[in-house]
Amino acid sequence: MAETRILIVEDEEALATLLEYNLGKESFEVGIASDGEEAMLKIDEEAPDLVILDWMLPKVSGIEVCRRLRTKPETRNLPIIMLTARSEEADRIRGLETGADDYLTKPFSTNELIARVRAVLRRIRPGLAEDKVSVGDLIVDRVSHRVLRGDKEIHLGPTEFRLLDHLIQHPGRVFSREQLLNAVWGSDVFVEVRTVDVHIGRLRKALNKHKQGDPIRTVRSAGYALEAGR
Ligand code: CA
Repeated sequence: MAETRILIVEDEEALATLLEYNLGKESFEVGIASDGEEAMLKIDEEAPDLVILDWMLPKVSGIEVCRRLRTKPETRNLPIIMLTARSEEADRIRGLETGADDYLTKPFSTNELIARVRAVLRRIRPGLAEDKVSVGDLIVDRVSHRVLRGDKEIHLGPTEFRLLDHLIQHPGRVFSREQLLNAVWGSDVFVEVRTVDVHIGRLRKALNKHKQGDPIRTVRSAGYALEAGR
């Protein structure tokens, strides 16, 4: 986990391969779709964290893909960066109006694209693109999968790690059990909602092993939040 999945939707094979290589080097998990139809299918199946979407595509155009994604509840907030050969201001505005988060005009450097990807991810989900996130005396290192509380290392199971990793990206925000299920287990997996309570219980116990206080707040009938100040 902690890997950010990016789907590149681009029919120019050479460009798609170049982007795949360069984003892969930045340790993103990268997929490719070569037309609008394939893009819709892959977004459905793979639930990427961000989509790089070419404007001119066979079958279903980029702008139409963007429009469709914005009308579906599951993908309404999916970050989209549009690519285009057109540089006209009117097209730029149209792209953003359709719901793209950012816009790059071809030709662009891969460094520029990577910078935009990181900027969009930071804006949409603070902390997502960071290797290390800290809240209060808690530090989550996503590269080494280590968790520290003060100077003590905390050992977590993979599910507890993913739970903490999700909560720490949005300190103070209350997540319902369903939201945590979708974020940590995935929306296509059938898991009892109560399972979340079990793993929150384990996470709590591990985090409070040295009696530094419980950083997880239970909000009655709403869900859980990670508190920054505890
Ligand atoms: Ca194209």
